[in-house]
Amino acid sequence: MQIKTAEFIVSNQEVFKCPNNQIPEYAFIGRSNVGKSSLINMLTNQKRLAKTSGRPGKTQLINHFLINKEWFLVDLPGYGYARVSKSAKKIFQKFITTYFKERKQLVSAFVLVDIRHEPQSVDLAFMQWLGEYEIPFSIIFTKADKLRPKAIEKHIQSYKNKLLEFWEEMPNYFTTSSTNYLGKEALLNYISGVNNELSIKTNKSPFQ
Ligand code: GDP
Repeated sequence: MQIKTAEFIVSNQEVFKCPNNQIPEYAFIGRSNVGKSSLINMLTNQKRLAKTSGRPGKTQLINHFLINKEWFLVDLPGYGYARVSKSAKKIFQKFITTYFKERKQLVSAFVLVDIRHEPQSVDLAFMQWLGEYEIPFSIIFTKADKLRPKAIEKHIQSYKNKLLEFWEEMPNYFTTSSTNYLGKEALLNYISGVNNELSIKTNKSPFQ
């Protein structure tokens, strides 16, 4: 997929105020500082579409970006800076869980994790929660340029091992770097493939 246009549309703190149309959307979420803003800017060929983080947790907003006038890229607030030891309910602000439970336009989530780190309980808890609510998601490993190829493999394998303690199979995943564009094509092609399937299923453009 070529990105022709990427426009900021609206920021909301309340799910019911989000765009009221049938445009399919893909939500990007992860712990603060995971590289989410950098990834969104890399994917959309923009320098500052998503704001790279200053103070973690400053912006608690659901941000809608319209891509190619066809689909929404949704930038959700970073999580994990709240008291991580508490239950998932307390970690994930209510409006984030409300977004996932109620947003009919959501096609799939992307959970970002820093490829260098051991699996973090907050991320595992969040994926578990998505699974319980049957919300499709993929994992995006970020900052792969910080590791050598062998180490990338090793880290992904140990992540897989951890996930397979809870999951029957490894969720779909992408390995990315915002500095060297690794994973950009794969990720955008994946989204365009899902969008095509959606339009075939509904036998009309899902973008109206
Ligand atoms: P966010 O809080 O998840 O939106 O994270 P940011 O995109 O603001 O990135 C946090 C920090 O990680 C910044 O200093 C970025 O420059 C750095 N960063 C983000 N992505 C990458 C990457 O792919 N490679 C490297 N080397 N650094 C990255």
